[in-house]
Amino acid sequence: MEPPPSCFQSSLDFCPECGSVLPPPGPSSTVPCPRCTFALRTVDLEGKAVCSSIQFNQLEAGRGHDPAPHIEGPLVERRCPRCGQEGMAYHTRQMRSADEGQTVFYTCPRCRFQEKEDS
Ligand SMILES: [Zn+2]
Ligand SMILES: [Zn+2]
Repeated sequence: MEPPPSCFQSSLDFCPECGSVLPPPGPSSTVPCPRCTFALRTVDLEGKAVCSSIQFNQLEAGRGHDPAPHIEGPLVERRCPRCGQEGMAYHTRQMRSADEGQTVFYTCPRCRFQEKEDS
């Protein structure tokens, strides 16, 4: 699962005026469209590439440095309704008397959303 290339793909390879394929950027500061008078400035290309790599780095950093919150209990196959996290911690708690059954608590390890389910 690759993250979608955010603003990298957008309109870099196609002329926004006529839609024809632009040649790859060369040493000159512009990429002229072969069909119309449009010329793409390579400065714009670089700006977009930088923008893309910054977003990518932030994504990587966020993934690597997630502080793991301390959650009690084992993970069960349950999707967090708030953030979509797969797998929620659960623990049960006995209510006042035995014939009232027990309540199951599901806690999302990512956003700490908590759900309660009576059984
Ligand atoms: Zn064109
Ligand atoms: Zn969540």
